[in-house]
Amino acid sequence: MFNILPNIHTNTVMPAKLTRSQEKVWHFLQAQSSAMSAQELHTALKAQHQIGLATVYRALDTLKLKGLVRALPMPNGETLYSGIPSDKHHLNCLNCQKVIPLEVCPLHPLPQSISENQNFRVFYHTLEFFGLCSDCQIGELAGEV
Ligand SMILES: [Zn+2]
Ligand SMILES: [Zn+2]
Repeated sequence: MFNILPNIHTNTVMPAKLTRSQEKVWHFLQAQSSAMSAQELHTALKAQHQIGLATVYRALDTLKLKGLVRALPMPNGETLYSGIPSDKHHLNCLNCQKVIPLEVCPLHPLPQSISENQNFRVFYHTLEFFGLCSDCQIGELAGEV
């Protein structure tokens, strides 16, 4: 069984079968550039909609389990929510902090060993690379790094 959501790259199309409040929460988060807590989300949403904090929490929980929002637990016990990141990865240089975007995702399509053998339904993934860029490798040879 190959259980990958067909379109995790451009997740801007409304997913089917959401309640109105789930829909509002999803839309709002998808449009944000940074993650936010349920309280922050509620404060922002209630300016435009009649929506209770408990409803926001419930909607977030459902969306999280549907793989439509990302929940990031913080060390302080708070959870931050964000839209699903696009399938983009970067090479990060540890010396000059240069960030080089990768043109293709090395995990696309996801290796069958992960999705099939584990029988795990993958919604999204994160992947970052760290090392030295070509300029900094030259510096390394010259003893500058
Ligand atoms: Zn560098
Ligand atoms: Zn990827």
